[in-house]
Amino acid sequence: MYSYPDASSVVAALRPDESVTLIRPHAAQRAARFFAEKFPGKSLYAVKANPSPDLLQILWESGITHFDVASIGEVRLVRQVLPQATLCFMHPVKSERTIAEAYFQHGVRTFSLDTHEELAKIARATKNADDLELCVRIRVSSEHAKLSLAAKFGAEPEDVASLLMATRQLADGLGICFHVGSQAMTPQAYADAMEYVRAAILEASVTVDIVDIGGGFPSVYPGMEPPALESYFKIIDDTFEDLPISYSAELWCEPGRAICAEYASLIVKVEKRRGSELYINDGAYGALFDAAHVAWRFPVERLSESQDTDTTDKTAFSFYGPTCDDLDHMAGPFLLPDNIAADDYIEIGMLGAYGCAMRTGFNGIQTGETVIVEDQPMATLYDAMPANDANVLPFAAKA
Ligand SMILES: *Cc1c(COP(=O)(O)O)cnc(C)c1O
Repeated sequence: MYSYPDASSVVAALRPDESVTLIRPHAAQRAARFFAEKFPGKSLYAVKANPSPDLLQILWESGITHFDVASIGEVRLVRQVLPQATLCFMHPVKSERTIAEAYFQHGVRTFSLDTHEELAKIARATKNADDLELCVRIRVSSEHAKLSLAAKFGAEPEDVASLLMATRQLADGLGICFHVGSQAMTPQAYADAMEYVRAAILEASVTVDIVDIGGGFPSVYPGMEPPALESYFKIIDDTFEDLPISYSAELWCEPGRAICAEYASLIVKVEKRRGSELYINDGAYGALFDAAHVAWRFPVERLSESQDTDTTDKTAFSFYGPTCDDLDHMAGPFLLPDNIAADDYIEIGMLGAYGCAMRTGFNGIQTGETVIVEDQPMATLYDAMPANDANVLPFAAKA
């Protein structure tokens, strides 16, 4: 994979007609090391946020050894890229064939569930295995998160105690897991959720070996500047220590977004301007799904070879993507120089999580090259950590 100093040099070298994905291995390495070193427990990377094999390799080399997978496709992928990794199957609804393949062929021992039916499936599919770690997913509030995950999964409150007791019978290790919703803007989200965990443990009176607080750790976007991640870790540690659990119980988390948001950005070309609307060559069916469908805002910057063209005032623009579909529209607002015009290029930042991972080929739109850049991401939550480590640059040569 080619490596460039920054996005402007990519534009100067390629003048690309298709959107170009920029990856920053050093940013993923920094985020992974931050979790591996500072989270007061074990960090499982949530693969769905970005399943790129290059990224998985970087995370592994940076101290992430456990991976939260949610489909047999993710199980096979991670097992192939990282034969030594520990895989935890944290989707609470699976087919028996999927469970059996994960258990017997890929060595998966950790599964989540939120119903008695799923528990019975896991027992049958693993032939009543006695080495399972089973995590009961409970429902918690998503009120502090920008994207709710409260509706779809999680045992009904009235079932939690009986499900914990039944799971305890089958499990070698019993866990409780939850997800506060993605992009949780305050650490209080986790403290509130821990209260549900406490109530569940007391009601069921079971010994709990694992408390898995899920994902939800934020990244930085325009209009969304969360407190430092350390403040999340502190409240999680304090409330975990307070739970009625044994001294040897483990604390796990499953960050997706916070690990990989800074890993990738995109260069797009302006094909046409109509007032304050820019027609660009990537969109809702490409890496900008969240910008279109949940009105997510991303940082943007015009790329130009001479830096002084950016001295003009900024205007709020919206984007249209390259397909023929009206829904291929990103409202923004995206603040760009007033005089931006067709044939200009823009870098759209912070697309490493739920951006590049969600591309489709709809309408025959192609994505261009992927290249490495060495500069800093457009925003970061990891200021205090050293970003450029000599160990990660050779990755460019290896890939
Ligand atoms: C999506 C998901 C995650 C990752 O969530 P982020 O908000 O990206 O940190 C973690 N765990 C589970 C079970 C998920 O579904």
